[in-house]
Amino acid sequence: MVDAVLDDSFARRLPELCHPWQAAPAPAPRLIVANDRLAADLGWEPTELHRSDALGYLIGTEVLPGSHPVAQVYAGHQFGSYSERLGDGRALLLGEVTGVDGRRWDVHLKGSGRTPLARGGDGKAALGPMLREFLMGEAMVALGVPSTRGLAVVATGETIQRDSPLPGAVLCRVAASHLRVGTFEYAARSGDADLLARLADYAIERHYPALAGSPSRYLDLFAAVVDAQAALVARWMLVGFIHGVMNTDNMTISGETIDYGPCAFMDAYDPATVFSSIDHGGRYAYGNQPVVAQWNLARLGESLLAVIDQDWHAAVEPATAVLRSFSASYEGYFAAGLRAKLGLADTVGEFAAQADDLGRELLEIMAGQRADFTGTFRSLSATLRAESAMPAQALVGAASWYERWLAAIDRVGRRRDLADAMDRVNPVVVPRNHLVDEALIAATVGELAPYRQLLAALAQPFEQRPRLDRYALPASAEFNAEFRTFCGT
Ligand code: AMP
Ligand code: MG
Repeated sequence: MVDAVLDDSFARRLPELCHPWQAAPAPAPRLIVANDRLAADLGWEPTELHRSDALGYLIGTEVLPGSHPVAQVYAGHQFGSYSERLGDGRALLLGEVTGVDGRRWDVHLKGSGRTPLARGGDGKAALGPMLREFLMGEAMVALGVPSTRGLAVVATGETIQRDSPLPGAVLCRVAASHLRVGTFEYAARSGDADLLARLADYAIERHYPALAGSPSRYLDLFAAVVDAQAALVARWMLVGFIHGVMNTDNMTISGETIDYGPCAFMDAYDPATVFSSIDHGGRYAYGNQPVVAQWNLARLGESLLAVIDQDWHAAVEPATAVLRSFSASYEGYFAAGLRAKLGLADTVGEFAAQADDLGRELLEIMAGQRADFTGTFRSLSATLRAESAMPAQALVGAASWYERWLAAIDRVGRRRDLADAMDRVNPVVVPRNHLVDEALIAATVGELAPYRQLLAALAQPFEQRPRLDRYALPASAEFNAEFRTFCGT
């Protein structure tokens, strides 16, 4: 990193969306966690992040050649209400780097001090929430879910005031980009058609370059984002992830998960599950996520109308058709994922339809029993190996379902092979609330061992390891009933 040269294509090409800015000084910066594997993916020496001369770059007090840090402007619908000026109140885009795979990545800071977009906030971030975002992102990537990723968390040495005094920190994160639905909402409502077209062309270049020459490229961009988000939200649903604050400013154009504030994984399966302390109406409950994603995408579609066609009516009709395609697309991704979780990936035609029915019925049974979402699928593969003499816990009283599932399995292949295939898609370890909580409480008082152990377990979520049994178990129902998550602002 210390020898890196960054590009500033966003700042150069979309200056209307930028406030050039610099990070706040930090009294006593100290590296808390570094992502050596990610550093290597970016073409840097894996140990480089640990060098004392890297620290300033990781918090923005030193600026790499080619970097012109900016606070990005965006708008957004928060819990359904529009805010015309959100943007990076406590974050900065440092610039872009080309990774070893040839792809361009944003390097970005969170917690780097007040910007002109900070409104009432102090521009700072606490260590706990930044470690949480780092851990959640790594867990998601290991689970095969597209996500922004932490490169490092640096404690600033500053004490910041929240409900109580907390250690301050800066997260340095990497993303395919930080373009959001809210970025398009801002550009559309600025009334500057040229800005909107330049933003859309920039998004196409970065995320969907195959669309660049198409005369219908803006409609195609919309369709590509609809598909990417349908795929993303299906992946969330298949691992029991609840984002918690699916405002349009927290939804990417790339299809990566972004802004881990009050997110959580669900233990007991219940579509109404909500953990966020500010989500009183359950707008962002687990089971609402597909509908909310489509609602957010409608806001993206509206924002793109002016460039899709100058004639409003000629734009609305195809854009509406694209928006409607979300449901079938989402259902397709989710159903395929659920079949794989049941060991029935290789089914077609009527057998695939039967597998889908089995999946739907299982979810109903699980909801009725408040079965552990992650554990149930692993216990099914265990019964196939006859490792567990008892039927899976979730299936007590569901003998008919179990018999039909076994019959479907026996039509597809050998039980042992299918159990292996299931274990490749059904994790043993996910970042369960009580584990994350316990690791962060320790980290906040300087005891990092539990955090590092959890991070290591989450890096290989499909591996059953005897010493890590504790990580596979849900919290008590009482813990989860009381558990609340916070935005970490
Ligand atoms: P979030 O819900 O975390 O995505 O943040 C929503 C908005 O609030 C964004 O514009 C953030 O930049 C801003 N924000 C959150 N926390 C702070 C803070 N401590 N200081 C300034 N702005 C903040
Ligand atoms: Mg945000």
